Amino acid sequence: MSQIITGKTKLLGVIGHPIEHSLSPIMHNAAIAHLGLDYVYLPFPVHPDNLQAAISGFAAIDLVGINITIPHKQAIKPLIAEISPTAKAIGAINTVWKTSIGTWAGTNTDVEGFIAPLQTYNQDWSQKTAVVLGNGGAARAVVAGCAQLGFGETYVVGRNATKLAEFIASWDSLATKLLVRTWDKLPLLIPHAQVIINTTPIGMYPNVTQSPLSDEEMALLRADAIAYDLIYTPRPTKFLQQAQQRGATAIDGLEMLVQQGAAALAIWLQQPVPVDIMRQSLQNHLSKYN
Ligand code: NAP
Repeated sequence: MSQIITGKTKLLGVIGHPIEHSLSPIMHNAAIAHLGLDYVYLPFPVHPDNLQAAISGFAAIDLVGINITIPHKQAIKPLIAEISPTAKAIGAINTVWKTSIGTWAGTNTDVEGFIAPLQTYNQDWSQKTAVVLGNGGAARAVVAGCAQLGFGETYVVGRNATKLAEFIASWDSLATKLLVRTWDKLPLLIPHAQVIINTTPIGMYPNVTQSPLSDEEMALLRADAIAYDLIYTPRPTKFLQQAQQRGATAIDGLEMLVQQGAAALAIWLQQPVPVDIMRQSLQNHLSKYN
């Protein structure tokens, strides 16, 4: 891919600390090149101590939009004038753009990213149970997504009872019955789960032989279940391989990554974006690691 940067080129980017491993520049620049637009998407390493200065600087240079990644997703909230209801509910922002009056607005596109592959099943989820493994940042987007899809019940399973209590207390109202359970209760939950989602890093490269479920727990998985792993290196994870051996449907984290990026780019460009090109660019890149 070659692109000529001109004096008119508009700036997009992603801030994080560290940022070297971000895949966002790959998919966004692939989409920009495909659309033939005079934009460029850059990675910006921003130390937590410099977050406010960086955001002021981005305003000063008229940057169009920014993705926000770890560790800034929560810390950026006081710097954003308009926060979407979704981002407020999750407590984290991953996409920021300039409003018509020059202030910053922010939302969280991880929810759209998470639900996109599930929406292709065109199901009524209202009688269904989701089991979410882990109670960190990504689990918050997953719970908001389960509520948006209208799951009857959503269980969040974690290893720390105090964190689980804080997690459930942090939601105002949700369009799903939210329950929390400690990890030892998993054998009771798995047989009822139509969708089980791994939001922990267990099984992520290089720990590719690990799975959040033991063989005994996996043996309880319904053959008609959907196993969804937010991890995208490797593809598939051990968790998804085990689930497929049970006859379950597997969804890996690549589509969520692509769709949250596509949703952000559509906000910035205010036009349809080439999701297939974004997906293909990441598949090509990640094939080196699988
Ligand atoms: P996070 O905020 O650090 O949360 C991780 C969660 O996993 C925590 O609840 C943690 O439990 C739990 N956990 C970690 N190790 C565990 C273990 N050995 N046993 C049980 N629980 C364990 O991280 P995150 O931002 O939510 O990200 C989690 C994963 O999702 C990462 O692999 C990330 O790459 C992936 N992700 C993918 C996408 C995508 O677009 N596909 C988007 C976001 C995140 P404690 O709270 O008890 O420590």
